[in-house]
Amino acid sequence: MIQQRPGAALNVVMLGPPGAGKGTQAERFARTHGLPKISTGDILREAVHEHTPLGCAARETMDRGELVGDAVMIGIVGERLGRPDTPGGFVLDGFPRTVPQAEALDDMMRGRGPLVVVDIVVPEDVLLRRLAARRICGDCGINAAIEWTLNCGQCGGELVHRTDDGNGVVRERLKVYHRQTKPIVEFYAGRPTFRAIDGNQPPDLVTAAMDAAVREASLVTAPVKGAAL
Ligand code: AMP
Repeated sequence: MIQQRPGAALNVVMLGPPGAGKGTQAERFARTHGLPKISTGDILREAVHEHTPLGCAARETMDRGELVGDAVMIGIVGERLGRPDTPGGFVLDGFPRTVPQAEALDDMMRGRGPLVVVDIVVPEDVLLRRLAARRICGDCGINAAIEWTLNCGQCGGELVHRTDDGNGVVRERLKVYHRQTKPIVEFYAGRPTFRAIDGNQPPDLVTAAMDAAVREASLVTAPVKGAAL
């Protein structure tokens, strides 16, 4: 367990391209530290699955591999961070994805303690291979663990490809990542609570690297751009 300053929240943001392993690592980290994992991709996929107005509005954008609008996403995360399970900290997976989202997150963080940002770095050819192999559960939507072959280890549902993991859409998502999301690495890189880790190694080693990075970063706090870091 990471030792924090007494009363300090453990607020973690995971950055990285599609296929970097953000979801898997966010899940593990959140479970180990008893924090809520907030994945905007999962929130949107659930909305699509349940045919809510949000899901119906977001579906085509997601299927094209493009980003849902900033105002919608900022509203979703603002609402989620207002819930009572977040004051002790959280792990954000998939948000922010644009500079305006990162700026909005800084506003939301005022008075909530430091924000540790972990960027998972993986070469593009490895990402393409991983995305082609990735499966999720067609029923409950969770990412399939490596040892599951045909069915979900949690609910027994059939494992399927994500609709946005197809070849053409993956290339579009990587383009969108470079154009819109990579700039937020620059946005955070100068902060004392930013860490980049090597995501091109076995998942357990990435987990250990992430734990060490967050431990080290959460010992450093300094105000940056007026945000409560
Ligand atoms: P993910 O599971 O994080 O890869 O997200 C799947 C899709 O959901 C993305 O390709 C986007 O279409 C949409 N999405 C998820 N998070 C965001 C976000 N923060 N901003 C805009 N779109 C998002």
